[in-house]
Amino acid sequence: MDKEEIIEKLLAGEMKLYQIDKYTQTATEALDIRREFIERYSDCRLDQISNYTLDMELAFAKNIENPIGTIQVPIGVAGPVTINGEHAKDDFFIPLATSEGALLASVNRGCSAITAAGGVNARVIGDKMTRAPVIKTESVVEAVKVKQWFENKFDEIKEIAESTTSHGKLIKVDPIIIVGNYVYPRFCYSTGDSMGMNMVTIATEKVLEKLYEDLGVHAIALSGNLCVDKKPAAINVVEGRGKTVVADILIPEAIVRTKLKTTAKAIEEVNVAKNLIGSAAAGSMAYNAHFANMIGALFLATGQDAAHVVEGSLGITTAEDRDGDLYFSVNMSDLPIATIGGGTRLETANEGLQILGCAGSGNVNKFAEIVISTVLAGELSLVGALAAGHLAKAHKELGR
Ligand code: NAP
Repeated sequence: MDKEEIIEKLLAGEMKLYQIDKYTQTATEALDIRREFIERYSDCRLDQISNYTLDMELAFAKNIENPIGTIQVPIGVAGPVTINGEHAKDDFFIPLATSEGALLASVNRGCSAITAAGGVNARVIGDKMTRAPVIKTESVVEAVKVKQWFENKFDEIKEIAESTTSHGKLIKVDPIIIVGNYVYPRFCYSTGDSMGMNMVTIATEKVLEKLYEDLGVHAIALSGNLCVDKKPAAINVVEGRGKTVVADILIPEAIVRTKLKTTAKAIEEVNVAKNLIGSAAAGSMAYNAHFANMIGALFLATGQDAAHVVEGSLGITTAEDRDGDLYFSVNMSDLPIATIGGGTRLETANEGLQILGCAGSGNVNKFAEIVISTVLAGELSLVGALAAGHLAKAHKELGR
């Protein structure tokens, strides 16, 4: 079948989009036909979407179905920012992809204050990717037997799970929650430099085959939402998911004044009133000003799974006036990231990681420290700007 016949069949509804691949030799050839069909169907021209440099054969193999091209997002750099991490110890320029004007300028201002103050301290304190299936039993009595199976057979379960991967390690199956006749065991793995969702799903599925063999019960869903993947959840905040990271800095009074145009006292007050009390009043789980801005832009620039921005948006910002100097910190307990696998292999994303010296194996902890340092820079800048406005207004009202 030639191109024109395929498009005619698609327009007549006699062929599905994915069936184009059967009649074409390469993913790129199929892409061109699919895009031309969409242009005719929607009566539009896709001149920009069709203009790309990615290796679409590679992308089609792992990253996209029914491709029609690529979308472009502007990318810029903020920095340099001095990071005093355990793994990231240098001055870094941070690649950020966004269409939100002023974001890079704001992060850049935070980087400048951090660097003038000698750098941000960043540490990775936890590493666990999770998958929690839901298993159906007859009753709570049977559900407890399933829970005990997981508890008593951990060594065997670990061996089965780890037989499916050379990098994934099962740390624990905990907590195991029972609700009525349903059991939710939360599998926690370390996943090396990959984000690990595919890896842990495959490993967990293998364990469930053994559970069925031993007890005759099966999972009614491989994800029972106790994982919790791509949704905001308290269990992720408390237990941690992906990388758990912390960062802080002590900024001398003179730098708060010259770089942020405010005082430590004003920043402390804005942080308490907005990020802590305001968030509590709203029932929010994100006690911060805008983690999602930095996470979203950095995730797009480096090929992370964009849906995980919802998890990366959770965390707490603290600020303290220490005799005029500013102590400022951020914590993030739910940061699913990778320097291997998923979207990190796409050429533009890989270049984003290369800017940070983080592409490939052995770099994920360094990358995690850079991510949280960028988040701190953005938080510092925004909370500082709000405090500067609040201070300016207070001065005006007081007439001095
Ligand atoms: P992946 O690209 O499926 O797999 C990465 C693979 O890289 C690992 O399986 C591992 O092989 C190998 N590898 C080589 N060097 C490694 C190193 N140094 N550290 C760790 N692994 C290394 O990626 P994934 O991280 O498992 O999954 C990410 C993808 O899953 C993303 O595209 C994401 O969008 C998608 N996702 C899937 C689900 C789901 O439920 N399945 C949910 C959300 C997102 P070995 O395993 O043999 O060691």
